[in-house]
Amino acid sequence: MTTAEYTSRLAAMECTPWCTVRDHEAAHDPACWGPDRVTALSLEDDFPTAAVNPLQFDAPRASVYPYRQEPGYREVVKLHLYRAGRNEFRELDAEVVMTLDEARQLIAHVLEVVDDVEAGAR
Ligand SMILES: [Zn+2]
Repeated sequence: MTTAEYTSRLAAMECTPWCTVRDHEAAHDPACWGPDRVTALSLEDDFPTAAVNPLQFDAPRASVYPYRQEPGYREVVKLHLYRAGRNEFRELDAEVVMTLDEARQLIAHVLEVVDDVEAGAR
């Protein structure tokens, strides 16, 4: 495929309803990326202690967003875990791809664990 053919293909592709990419041709990327939902992780190392929005800095965080590699591929949930860390052994920058059912199962398990902890705290 020539560059012109690839560019033409990007211009003609159909986005997902949740895609935030305004122009796939300009981005040179056929992937649809949805909006990030970011959770700051306040118990992790190097979490900012000042009264600032931690997400404006390089704070430890977990992000989830919808993703499709390109037309014809399945739509998935991506989970990104990030912690800068003070040394390379504590750094974390990993992405996990899940089916919609797997994401629902993970959510259910997290809620069950929260319920277990809260039940013990009473
Ligand atoms: Zn798109």
